[in-house]
Amino acid sequence: MPHFINVILPLPLEKHFTYSVSAGEAEFLQPGMRVAVPFGKSKIYTGIVSAVHQEDPKIYEAKPIEQILDKTPVVTAAQLAFWKWLASYYMCAEGEVLRAAIPSAFLLESETIVQLMKDVEVEEEELTDDEYLLYEALQRQSSLKINEIIQLLDKKTVLPVINSLVEKKVVVVNQEIYEQYRPKMEKYVRLDPKHASEEGMHQLLDELNRAPKQRQVIFTLFSLSAKDKDKPLKLKTLAKESRVSTNVIKSLVQKGVLEEYDSQTDRLQYGGGEVSGSMELNEYQEQALQEIRAAYEKERVCLLHGITSSGKTEIYVKLIEEMVATGKQVLYLLPEIALTAQLISRLQAYFGEKVIVYHSKYSVNERVEVYQNVLNNSSKAKVIVGVRSSVFLPFHDLGLIVVDEEHESTFKQYDPAPRYHARDAAVVLGHMYNASVLLGSATPALESYFNAEHSKYSLVNLNRRYGNVLLPEIEIVDIKEKHRKRRMTGHFSDRLVEEIRETLAEKEQVILFQNRRGFSPILECNTCGHSPQCPNCDVSLTYHSRNNQLRCHYCGYNMALQKKCMACGSPELSTKGFGTEKVETELKALFPDHKIGRMDLDTTRGKHGYEKIITAFEEGEIEILVGTQMLTKGLDFRNVRLVGIMNADTLLNFPDFRAHERSFQLMLQVAGRAGRTEKRGKVLIQTYNPHHQIVQQVSMNNYADMYKEQLEERRQYKYPPFYRLIRLTLRGRDYSRVNEGADWLATSLKNSFYENVLGPEFPPVARIRNEYYKNILIKIPQKQSLGKTKGLIEKVLQSFKAVGAFRSIRVVVNVDPY
Ligand code: ADP
Ligand code: ZN
Ligand code: ZN
Repeated sequence: MPHFINVILPLPLEKHFTYSVSAGEAEFLQPGMRVAVPFGKSKIYTGIVSAVHQEDPKIYEAKPIEQILDKTPVVTAAQLAFWKWLASYYMCAEGEVLRAAIPSAFLLESETIVQLMKDVEVEEEELTDDEYLLYEALQRQSSLKINEIIQLLDKKTVLPVINSLVEKKVVVVNQEIYEQYRPKMEKYVRLDPKHASEEGMHQLLDELNRAPKQRQVIFTLFSLSAKDKDKPLKLKTLAKESRVSTNVIKSLVQKGVLEEYDSQTDRLQYGGGEVSGSMELNEYQEQALQEIRAAYEKERVCLLHGITSSGKTEIYVKLIEEMVATGKQVLYLLPEIALTAQLISRLQAYFGEKVIVYHSKYSVNERVEVYQNVLNNSSKAKVIVGVRSSVFLPFHDLGLIVVDEEHESTFKQYDPAPRYHARDAAVVLGHMYNASVLLGSATPALESYFNAEHSKYSLVNLNRRYGNVLLPEIEIVDIKEKHRKRRMTGHFSDRLVEEIRETLAEKEQVILFQNRRGFSPILECNTCGHSPQCPNCDVSLTYHSRNNQLRCHYCGYNMALQKKCMACGSPELSTKGFGTEKVETELKALFPDHKIGRMDLDTTRGKHGYEKIITAFEEGEIEILVGTQMLTKGLDFRNVRLVGIMNADTLLNFPDFRAHERSFQLMLQVAGRAGRTEKRGKVLIQTYNPHHQIVQQVSMNNYADMYKEQLEERRQYKYPPFYRLIRLTLRGRDYSRVNEGADWLATSLKNSFYENVLGPEFPPVARIRNEYYKNILIKIPQKQSLGKTKGLIEKVLQSFKAVGAFRSIRVVVNVDPY
């Protein structure tokens, strides 16, 4: 009987691919192991075994595999099941999930290597110039990679040249696979065994009599190993402890006194520091904790609606403690890791080296180490803190998932597939592992609150700030009136200036919030109204004063600022709109003697950019911090008295059905940064629409009213949670093709879904990098089967792809777009 395996390839294929294996390989292989397999013309990929069986694929002849890459599975059965769910729910291929789910270093690269045929005899005149060049180069170098050949021949299309040389039997092409992941090696030292006896030791010290530094090293080594005999000693540590340079140690190695050896180290060491018990909860927190525990008796998922600074984190900590005590793993999901230095040190203070962080800014190797620690259920991976992609880790015995700030939109992945929402995926993950799930927020997503109201989740409320600190007082400033009465200085109302002045006088800090979205300054001609556009995208270029440039935020196109209007030549240009940079500039003019900092995408580049600003603010080196929504995410500053929201209207006017909900969440979250100690904080909201219901609801901290009103609108206009959405985005270089394709697709979909198909419609920015975009939205009523709907959509998409004219159009499917 022949043997086969099914393999998930890291490609957007609909099906698993079948390969043939020997009886011995079939015996050895298990689902979740990696194999290198040929696919397509001459490519080799790493795939994951999904099944071992004896069924011939019939439609094609199963090729043999190249190589088995693992001794034990690197992907668990639970992960395979989770991938399957993700692929089916988010309408993508399991191969796409695979790509997102395991560290790229696990997917061995296939690099084509070209070598000369052994004992080759060449008739030189039979070769073209390019062929000769390559042949000659290969006589000097034993092998070349495709990229090197591209450079050598100075052209892109080198494959025909190689092919021809293969046909002429001059070169061979083989694919070589190697592991990308290299563990970090570190140098260690130990005493040569011949000195281990007491006698040997005395002899050694005598010998070193005239080398005091070397003697000192030996003494240090003794005293260190007296403390912990079996602990391996790093060369660096020994040098540091004995206060000598590493050269002294090296010379001892040369003398044969010490032995040097390499060993793999863990990159993810916990920095040390005392581990202390968690804090005692106050009565309200205790009450909430009891309610959560009770809720888990009935419901797997619990929503904790606790106002800002109510001490939600300490409640999570208690639940984590309990879980860790039973030996289970805990996943702590966060919207953005950049914002978590504060949280991680808090968790490390409680759980020490049991905390592991899965960081988007980590290197490939670091990610592999986290992955492996989780896979091996190591004691270092009990509390796993991470961003959305950490739902893909190979958990063992997952007992609890905490989703902090569950309303955050960054939990949704935009691009590439799988376009999943980590909160929703976490709920499914919890189900698969039989784990409890805790969603926490001061401003829950409408969907989550709806689920809680409809008994899908349980709900626990926490309405008091820790230490009975009052919620900040909120004042609304009508800037239309302020403009009329000429009480504005730039974008600052007189009220805001007064409050800032007062706060600074009392040596307290200020946060000013200005949303970045759609609000960067644009250059406009006062004479003809022209504003410079990006040549590749349908957007105006934005002005950056730092380097006096105009830039495109979509494609990065930039140009120097022009002195005159490019359309009419008028020198009268002004900037319209304002971003954080503008606020900062105006602020410097208003408060020249105070230290001002800015936190946005531009100032937080680099691994530690963000931390630096946070630390400077915490330590009082910055008195006024200007920032975008980055400021909203769970930061806990002690000395902030005043928060100013520069302009509420741009948030409210954003063209999206979630705009109002989002504005409420954003404003309430920024407001929550004010007054976290005894003194009551103050929040000023500047707006042209002081009576807007959302502004009013923020000012009264009225989540319930916001929820009720927004929900009613969602019901009326057929949006989530009443209807599910699937968005199809077409994209291509040919404008009319995209239009035709979109019409074709919309018409076909309307045959099945009638008035629940919206569009096709151009998005607000309809051209990016010279590609045109068009959207179609499908609304799915609650009672309509989701599975059947997706099946129908897939069928329509298949017929679409079969139309030759539409071959150049890409269609992206986004389930639950955000
Ligand atoms: P939230 O996450 O709900 O906004 P935090 O968990 O950040 O609130 O708590 C707000 C502040 O109160 C933090 O500075 C925290 O250290 C403090 N805090 C919360 N609970 C306790 C407690 N039980 N004992 C001492 N301090 C607490
Ligand atoms: Zn002009
Ligand atoms: Zn552009």
